[in-house]
Amino acid sequence: MKSHARVVVIGGGVVGVSTLYHLTKKGWSDVVLLERTELTAGSTWHAAGLLPLFNMSYAVGQIHKYSVDLYKRLEAETGQNVSFHVTGNLRLATNKERMDEYLKYCGTANTIGVPYEIITPKQVKELWPLSDTDGLVGALYHPDDGHIAPVDVTNAMAIGARNGGAEINRHTEVLSIEQQKNGEWLVRTNKGDITAEHVVSCTGNYARQTLSMVGLDIPVIPVEHQYIVTDEVPELIERKKAGLPEMAVLRESDASYYLREERQGYILGPYEKGAPACFVDGVPESFGQDLFPGDLERLMPHVEAAIKRVPTFADAGIKDIVNGPIAYTPDGSPMIGPAWGLKNFWINEGHSFGVTAAGGSGWQLAEWITEGEPGIDMMDVDPRRFGAYATKPYTKIKNEECYEHVFVIHYPDEERGAGRPLKMSPCHDRMAARGAVFGQRYGWERPNWFAPEGVEPKDQWSFRRSNYFEHVGNEVKNMRTNAGLIDITSFSKFEVTGPGAEAYLDRLVCRKLPKGVGRINLSHALNKRGGIRSEFTIMRDGPEAFYLVSSGAAERFDHDYLLKHLPDDGSVRLDNVTTAHGVLVLAGPKSRDILRKITDADLSNNGFKWLTGQHITVGLAPCRALRVNFVGDLGWELHHPIEYQNHIYDAIVEAGEEFGLGMCGMRAMDSLRMEKNYRMWGQDLTREYSVFEAGLERFVHLDKGDFIGRDALIRQKEEGVPQSFVCLEVDGITDADPLGNEPLYDISGNIVGRATAGAYGHWVGKSLAQGYIKAGMEAIGTKLEIEILGTRYPATVIEESVFDPENERLRA
Ligand SMILES: Cc1cc2nc3c(=O)[nH]c(=O)nc-3n(C[C@H](O)[C@H](O)[C@H](O)COP(=O)(O)OP(=O)(O)OC[C@H]3O[C@@H](n4cnc5c(N)ncnc54)[C@H](O)[C@@H]3O)c2cc1C
Repeated sequence: MKSHARVVVIGGGVVGVSTLYHLTKKGWSDVVLLERTELTAGSTWHAAGLLPLFNMSYAVGQIHKYSVDLYKRLEAETGQNVSFHVTGNLRLATNKERMDEYLKYCGTANTIGVPYEIITPKQVKELWPLSDTDGLVGALYHPDDGHIAPVDVTNAMAIGARNGGAEINRHTEVLSIEQQKNGEWLVRTNKGDITAEHVVSCTGNYARQTLSMVGLDIPVIPVEHQYIVTDEVPELIERKKAGLPEMAVLRESDASYYLREERQGYILGPYEKGAPACFVDGVPESFGQDLFPGDLERLMPHVEAAIKRVPTFADAGIKDIVNGPIAYTPDGSPMIGPAWGLKNFWINEGHSFGVTAAGGSGWQLAEWITEGEPGIDMMDVDPRRFGAYATKPYTKIKNEECYEHVFVIHYPDEERGAGRPLKMSPCHDRMAARGAVFGQRYGWERPNWFAPEGVEPKDQWSFRRSNYFEHVGNEVKNMRTNAGLIDITSFSKFEVTGPGAEAYLDRLVCRKLPKGVGRINLSHALNKRGGIRSEFTIMRDGPEAFYLVSSGAAERFDHDYLLKHLPDDGSVRLDNVTTAHGVLVLAGPKSRDILRKITDADLSNNGFKWLTGQHITVGLAPCRALRVNFVGDLGWELHHPIEYQNHIYDAIVEAGEEFGLGMCGMRAMDSLRMEKNYRMWGQDLTREYSVFEAGLERFVHLDKGDFIGRDALIRQKEEGVPQSFVCLEVDGITDADPLGNEPLYDISGNIVGRATAGAYGHWVGKSLAQGYIKAGMEAIGTKLEIEILGTRYPATVIEESVFDPENERLRA
């Protein structure tokens, strides 16, 4: 074994080997893989080998697509057959809601170029003659995917990696990992030590153990997953004799199982209720290349459903039950990217569809390591999307929930119940008493909407307008007419202070920092390619003090970035004050009248200008009041030490009574912000789009001196900005507004872009969308089409900010 390498990859499952392979493809040959036993000895060897392209996430969808394309070329490159059976993949639907899920997915598939067909029950019968199509309303068919031999595909990538110069060491167990003073990693193994510039952890079920070696608590805990292998089935033998092709992988989502042919028999894999998490405290020494005993009782409901759908399954004897650990995370997506708080330590863990995701995850992670950035927006899989709230017991129950939800309909407004409520604003119960229907983000409970008296405070999830549509509309209208109160305590907040604070922040964002004390700027931190990494509201709180606010879901993501860029001369202090400060937004035309009653601060337009902040008192409590908001109306964000929240809340509610103050939830906020075309970080603003593409030139100061991403922006200016941000009005909608991830077409039917967000603008009475299209098509009035749940609707490019385009309300 070498004693030094540029990268050490830990773990020789399909994911680790793919990471190694892709590093060599990037030209990094001084790379080493360490595997404690044999390649594929973890979960990889017993995987069923299915490669489902279906995924609702834009990022994961691209990762899966890449893998499927790669695996088709591997044999030609490496000489290793990977047994790729391109059988196609059928997902059945027995109800309209399930069809809606497929149709929503199709929008994403179109934007990333995954071929699919929506087919009828009759076509299902043609593709799957041994199925009973009773009760089906249709199906989604992917002609391109199928199944593969996981061991062979791992070996093929291992050959490819070795050909590229990589070294693979089997029977080499990593025992400890520490970072040395010079930044290099010292990796100790049972075969000796190795130092490396970068370390990548790809250890599957061992993730918690490996990451604990570097002090991290990673929310990866496996769940038991089983499949049945049957004896040969006469009808399948007949089909083979007749020269008929293998039938598609069959997924009956509504009965939560997959079924495929295997050596003239079947494999049936269910996602059962009550499957237990395993290895909660780590993989025991005694567990080698092992399996758990099968649990037939848990399998039975799915076996019965499969017999109804595929009658020949009834006579197939059970040959084997494979029950193995499958790594999970609380949201079911893997963790791919940098480890938080550590330099040059990378994570490729938590894969529950690891054979499917291995190719794509290795591809993107290798790009990230070698070039400093991934090519696609990886936020859905970024390890920093979870925070300290994802403790071991939380992870256990969320992962079990996630497992049994694999085939549950993924509604866009779904809010899962396990592990809730967890993080609560102090005013949580007060809002609950007013009918709040909560959702959860980053562990925080946030009101999505408020059920008026007599209305059940409960969501009916849907892909279309649902039971809360009218009530959200009323919240919006009340905000625009009177005033509304929104709890955004979950937002991330940081204080940056010290003599070096200004220079440090200035390099991180593309806009000049606010000059005068109390001034506020919306600023973007870019990546090296000019893509948008983070969005911060920055208030200058003193000559050497700044207060930063960013998305609630970005707390660890942003904190990690700020931390990793801190100068080491001690000139800057960074404090994450997210949980120390609550935030209540009071906005709407009467917000000044309300606030005036409970503060002695001068709230006149001259005394408290738009885009400024002041330290004031509200009631008896101290507050940092920022005259900004995300709803595009007159208003203040009141940031306060969290212990004063109920005092402030009560004072506002009492003062607001005579002015018609209402409560306002996240769904109303979304409608309000779409009327102003405010871009949402993580949805409209991602690293896939440059700040120019996002139409935010006014927030960029190329002349301010160097900042991260500046060179790329200058290049883009010279070469031309490839895409443009557009605001759209959509016509003809009756019950399904755009939500984001819909393809946009020109009038000839060519895909020219994608919507990143959409909502019904309740105040302006229009269905609105925004997104990116090819540059040159952004002229106001341009006619496009947007595909929503399989139907194309006319969409017209409109001016930004359909509500109050001159910002008169904001400046009032
Ligand atoms: C029954 C079953 C069926 C499945 N079917 C499918 C399917 O059809 N399609 C699909 O995409 N996925 C499927 N999966 C999931 C798939 O098996 C996993 O997602 C995938 O194998 C994960 O690969 P990995 O490389 O991350 O982990 P692993 O394959 O578990 O590899 C991790 C490796 O790290 C090594 N390691 C750990 N700690 C150390 C250390 N300290 N030092 C050195 N080495 C270490 C381990 O020995 C192991 O070899 C299935 C899983 C199960 C249980």
